[in-house]
Amino acid sequence: MKQRAAFGSRSFRRYRRGVTKTRRVGVVGAGQLARMMIEASADCGVQVVVLASTNDDSAVSLASECKLGAATSYEALSDLAASCEFLTFDHELVDLEVLARLEREGVVLRPSPRSLAYSVDKAAQREYFAQLGMPLPDFLVLREPDPAAVASFLQAHEGRAVVKLATGGYDGRGVFFADSPATATQLITDIAPSGTIVLEERLELIAEVSQMVVRGVDGAIETYPLVTTVQARGMCNEVRYPTTLAAALVDQAEGLTRHIAKAVELVGVMAVEYFVTEAGLVVNELALRPHNSGHWTIEACATSQFANHLLAVSGQPLGPTTPLVEAAVMVNVVGADRPGSLEAARAVGGAHVHDYGKSWRPGRKLGHVTVVGDDPAALRVTAWKSAHAYGTQSQESPT
Ligand code: ADP
Repeated sequence: MKQRAAFGSRSFRRYRRGVTKTRRVGVVGAGQLARMMIEASADCGVQVVVLASTNDDSAVSLASECKLGAATSYEALSDLAASCEFLTFDHELVDLEVLARLEREGVVLRPSPRSLAYSVDKAAQREYFAQLGMPLPDFLVLREPDPAAVASFLQAHEGRAVVKLATGGYDGRGVFFADSPATATQLITDIAPSGTIVLEERLELIAEVSQMVVRGVDGAIETYPLVTTVQARGMCNEVRYPTTLAAALVDQAEGLTRHIAKAVELVGVMAVEYFVTEAGLVVNELALRPHNSGHWTIEACATSQFANHLLAVSGQPLGPTTPLVEAAVMVNVVGADRPGSLEAARAVGGAHVHDYGKSWRPGRKLGHVTVVGDDPAALRVTAWKSAHAYGTQSQESPT
């Protein structure tokens, strides 16, 4: 087989220029994921057009073309589609019926609305994956009130439950924990008016891990290595490559991730988030787009998640996902009570600082820092030093 030029190299760019035209990809949403897609787009022969909800959105200042409108608006999406060959997404707050209508009219959506349903709707994911025999927490979907089913579910799990809104939640919003049947029942009553609920058993988590995968229009699949994600206040604050999980669990993840990518007919990148429990891996949720647990791939892998997403959705061959380093640590910068110093964060040797260009607000994701090398403990020290200088809310530090 003919060897391809290394992705991102000068010869790769020459190869691209010789054989391909620029493809136009419309991104629904203009947050930091769209911003990092724009940063990756030149090497992929792609021009990105973003649909922003406001002029303040993270990707707007970098976009060469930007439209304003709501991600749920048929008119705004039709207008975006009219100037692009493919549409893709930076978030899940979309209206699947609007997307299905656009698809019927011939708009090329990647991933398709049918695939997206498994990340937009936690109930649809749980029900489909149960049919496929995936390892899941015990769960009950409540589309209507069903006090008898709730009572027996809670009795079986001694009230240790998680109550989730099926749609609209992210970064822990829409997820509520209960330790007794009374609290769980009250939570269900309180959030039922907001829509369908997924009631889950509350598992004892040993750790949380995530795996990115990319699938092309021809069905080719490449996985990235499994990573450990560390959560604080329902939000991921640190990602570590490699994981320290046993090889058997890493293999289990690889098999499940590939199976899921095919089962949801993925096109583009996807994150599969897993819980690590005594009984092995349990599927948590999917994101059919670049994901926070894949930001480390920008510095650490032969092709970043953002480049591979654009290559896949624009119908091009995928880039290699091979890691180029022994270890990597990514720390999110979440706005603290006072703004920090971006310059001081950048001054920390070895820290790759990504600023999302957002105005500072406590609790807001403002950027991330990645450090690569070969000593995971040292990388964590450097990443957290830089993130603290930047002014992150999270106080966690390497121990
Ligand atoms: P979001 O869509 O907001 O990311 P998740 O469903 O991933 O919500 O839940 C957020 C966090 O809540 C998870 O990362 C995990 O720490 C915890 N969690 C969710 N479901 C369970 C469960 N069934 N058992 C134990 N912890 C859970």
